[in-house]
Amino acid sequence: MTCRSSRALQQRLESLASAGVTDLPRSRAPALPTAVVEPLAEGRPSESGREAALEIIRAEVAACRRCEALACARTNTVFGAGSAAARLCFLGEAPGADEDVSGVPFVGRAGQLLTKIIEACTLSRDEVYILNVLKCRPPGNRQPSPEEVAKCREYFERQLQVVAPEFICCLGTTAAQALLHTTEPIGRLRGRWFQHGAAHVICTYHPSYLLRNPAAKRDVWDDMKLLMARMGVRL
Ligand code: SF4
Repeated sequence: MTCRSSRALQQRLESLASAGVTDLPRSRAPALPTAVVEPLAEGRPSESGREAALEIIRAEVAACRRCEALACARTNTVFGAGSAAARLCFLGEAPGADEDVSGVPFVGRAGQLLTKIIEACTLSRDEVYILNVLKCRPPGNRQPSPEEVAKCREYFERQLQVVAPEFICCLGTTAAQALLHTTEPIGRLRGRWFQHGAAHVICTYHPSYLLRNPAAKRDVWDDMKLLMARMGVRL
């Protein structure tokens, strides 16, 4: 439903209410889009096959209006970027203003810092896959609500299913808690290994936190050294 049709519906309901109509027949709720990731062939699927599967999900996200307020306010949905065959995925929280305009995750100041962190690990953005829990920008860069995370969860879970990384690095509390289904704070999740399906998961601070607290860069670097050692990447 568009923002305009949403307002039209509201006006129609108000006019029915003023005419004394207090109840409406219940219609069947629209089904959520079903999973479209085809069962992948035996063994590791090809990168082009994964790219095609991601494009199908990207198109669904672009049309998604499950969070009507976010859908009305967004300039672009922000899906994901990088290699569909990446060994390592970085999972962030939600798009900010720069990402909303560009449609690309992690391109603002925090994104530039993430790029530096990736490069310090001797990797490039093209070698990893970067995505967020939420695909639409929350107004004023507020934290995503639990309801929004629940509505958008299907998309990042399916992206991870397609890319099938060996390692996932959660950036910040929202990403870590959403992926790991926990309420533990990021400070207690750091420095430990978790499992998500076949992927090994590590959690660290979000780059935007580092912009506000530069002293925490040392902790993030410790986490990256742990991650690179387990990946077999020599620093
Ligand atoms: S945040 Fe996710 S679930 Fe909500 S409207 Fe955007 S794409 Fe849909």
